[in-house]
Amino acid sequence: MKWHEMTGPEVHELAKTTDLAVLPIGSLETHGPHLPNGSDSFIAERVCELIAEEVPCIVLPTLYYNICAQMKSFPGGAISIPPQVMIQLYDAIFSECARLGFRKIFAAVCHGGSETPVEFLANMVHERATSEVPGKPAKPDYYLFSKTLSPGVAAAKYAKDPVLEVGHGGEIETALNMACRPDLVHMDRVTEDGPTNPRAVSANYHIEWINQVPLAYVGNPHYASLDTADKIMEAVAADFIQAAKEIAAYEIGVDV
Ligand SMILES: [Zn+2]
Repeated sequence: MKWHEMTGPEVHELAKTTDLAVLPIGSLETHGPHLPNGSDSFIAERVCELIAEEVPCIVLPTLYYNICAQMKSFPGGAISIPPQVMIQLYDAIFSECARLGFRKIFAAVCHGGSETPVEFLANMVHERATSEVPGKPAKPDYYLFSKTLSPGVAAAKYAKDPVLEVGHGGEIETALNMACRPDLVHMDRVTEDGPTNPRAVSANYHIEWINQVPLAYVGNPHYASLDTADKIMEAVAADFIQAAKEIAAYEIGVDV
């Protein structure tokens, strides 16, 4: 059930049966010469479609715009939005969902780095909800849950690349795109492998993508194959579906 494909009365009726809204979080940024700029967004939308097949919820329109500051040096790909704008946008969207009856929000984070602003917002929402009666649980405007795309053990089972990360533009992300939009994947444009691990230090920092990953992809995208694309997508989505089931069953305000 997609918000933008339903009528107003349909959404209103659905809100009587579920309070869960799911937001596919993607981006617009270059993913190398072989993948579309909307790669993260296509993956996020597919993951949320699979969630909706298993768990009663409403799927919000996919968020293509996001923070892509590290990718701005590449020509032609990124439309990057300032972090503070994104946090305000998330907050506005989620507040509107809550106003219309969906107080549980599940942010399906399929763009690297977006977990941080979402978590920042989760803190903000709780912070402004703490002015309740002492001893009573706070009542935030909405309950924000999030999960970040990770290939996990299951996806790694089907991947050939020894780099077991999603890896920007690498095998797994290429396979995930094959599962969503095979018509937009151009394997003939992969001429060489990208770096295996572009990070020079283990601490958190923003790498210089244009310098350290000049082709805009890491690892070995040529390992991606239509044979395993759907299996990798299913494995990745399984983690989100499990989380969505738990969220749907979670009784607001009652912790175990
Ligand atoms: Zn990506």
